[in-house]
Amino acid sequence: MSTFKDTILKLLTSEPREVIIWLQEKKLLKSKLQCEACANPMTFHKINIIDGYYWRCMKKACENFRKGKSIRTGSVFEKSKVPLRTWIHLMYLWAEGVQLKQACSLASVSKPTGVACFSFFRSVCVTYFQHHPIRLGGPQIVVECDESAFAHKVKYHRGRGPAQTVWVFGLADRSVKPALTYMEVVEKRDANTLLPIIRKVVRPGTIIHSDEWRSYRRIQELGFEHRTVNHSVSFINPTNGVHTQTIESNWNRKKSFIKSMRGCRRDLLTSYLNQFMWFERHSTNSFDALCNQIAMQHKVG
Ligand SMILES: [Zn+2]
Repeated sequence: MSTFKDTILKLLTSEPREVIIWLQEKKLLKSKLQCEACANPMTFHKINIIDGYYWRCMKKACENFRKGKSIRTGSVFEKSKVPLRTWIHLMYLWAEGVQLKQACSLASVSKPTGVACFSFFRSVCVTYFQHHPIRLGGPQIVVECDESAFAHKVKYHRGRGPAQTVWVFGLADRSVKPALTYMEVVEKRDANTLLPIIRKVVRPGTIIHSDEWRSYRRIQELGFEHRTVNHSVSFINPTNGVHTQTIESNWNRKKSFIKSMRGCRRDLLTSYLNQFMWFERHSTNSFDALCNQIAMQHKVG
């Protein structure tokens, strides 16, 4: 484990050229660039500005002779003014689960820069799930479902609260430990909203556990076995052991994370939910997965 961390820490203090080569190996920067004027390959040159190197055409007959182009040309970093080394540092800190404020201080960046970079990493998670839609459960596997109200800089009211309440619908597959979840912001928690999500996410043959919320009454019509627990009586159904404690403890963890940021805007909640789901699925290789997925989503060619 420490070898990986050492590699990153070494990179953060190494020569600019090594940083560039590492990013090129990760396919986060172009390894080759052709001159726009003469189509010859451009070469690496040292320079005393931000990245330490730039591309230059060295063909004497070319109209662009000695003219330079940024090493970031055609990369995801092209429009950014953040040093490449700092990008790597922020990617590493985000992947390690370090919170924004601490990450800004460790990487010596302003809060707006940290916010922009972390927001970009969350967008990578969102895009990842667009290409890898989540499916949960399977024959004889238990998936719990539940809805929960997230409060956002608005006072939290129990039950069916005021218009500002943001409802999140969630599913938890407990065939793996820790459980894998699916979470989605929903406008309403009626059957017409929740049942299509269950049909989309849950695999045939799954056994669904829920409370007795009326929207769940038609789950069997979707072809699933459905068992319930009456939460006004107990947390666990005494006759068949049905409970939804996996998804409920999931809500508690996610809410305390959001609370630690003093809440987040409603439109940001979806991206945070995607980040949570992403980390569940990349808990052992989050930094590599982030690098690979940025490279996949922003091909340098
Ligand atoms: Zn040229």
